[in-house]
Amino acid sequence: MSESDMFSHAHDEMDECVQALARVHAFLHNELVEADADMIRHHLHACERCMENFEIESTITEMIQRSQPQQSAPSTLTARIQTMRISRTG
Ligand SMILES: [Zn+2]
Repeated sequence: MSESDMFSHAHDEMDECVQALARVHAFLHNELVEADADMIRHHLHACERCMENFEIESTITEMIQRSQPQQSAPSTLTARIQTMRISRTG
């Protein structure tokens, strides 16, 4: 790949950036079909600006997901507390 080749695609790249950024959230939430996700992955590797945006968005998404661990914790935690109570009284 040559540099002049990249510059000749400037307009297409702009359009790809708009499309990629519009789908970043869906991509992070695994809501895209594999073909669309692949397109975004390819674009992020080729486009530094979008990669930066993507990293910011993915960091925020990860933080939100980590602050909401209610999906796996309660059942095991409740089970442990109940076991403790049973062994204490018994
Ligand atoms: Zn881009």
